[in-house]
Amino acid sequence: MSELQDSIDRLTRDHERPLAQGKTVTVPGLLAQLDAAVTEQKRGGSAGNEIAIPVSPGAMRIQAEVADVVRSESLEQIGTHAGRVADLLKRWPEEGGDLDHLEHVALDLCDKIEALVDPGPPRRPLRERCPACGQRWVLDEDGHRSECLTAGVFKEDGTLKLPADYDVECLNCSAHWAGKDLAGVLKRLPKSLLNTGAGIQMTAV
Ligand SMILES: [Zn+2]
Repeated sequence: MSELQDSIDRLTRDHERPLAQGKTVTVPGLLAQLDAAVTEQKRGGSAGNEIAIPVSPGAMRIQAEVADVVRSESLEQIGTHAGRVADLLKRWPEEGGDLDHLEHVALDLCDKIEALVDPGPPRRPLRERCPACGQRWVLDEDGHRSECLTAGVFKEDGTLKLPADYDVECLNCSAHWAGKDLAGVLKRLPKSLLNTGAGIQMTAV
């Protein structure tokens, strides 16, 4: 199957998503997951559901962006922008003019929606200024403030990583530390982190 077809299938059809330890789970197409996130957002969260999935306020904006991209690319590549977004996408592999270009566009759409509906395990915020850019806070597109320095301490399956596998990154300047760079940066973050002789240990934050 071509990469373009693969991306379009992920957008428009039920598909397998890999879990930890080689298992997979069947999930709806990404467009359907995005629709569900928008519906959830309009309802104002999932009342009564104790383990509510956090829904970004950006769901509606991303849905509008995705529709805009699909319609403008379709007009250029297959000569029409009429019809449902999913139906337009399914025509790309057969009718598209520049398939390499469409392959990139479709992959970008998958990444954008996946980042919203399946953001991966949460990262632990570090209450420190970034050693690289000196900033402490970053604002997202919706004006929410969050700590710019975070540590990846959870594996995909939600269990804790070994300390040597932690990574630290800055959302403001994109600095990233892992592996042998990690110990050096952790020494410069005294409040949040301890660098013990036995390995790197994080204090509760
Ligand atoms: Zn930074």
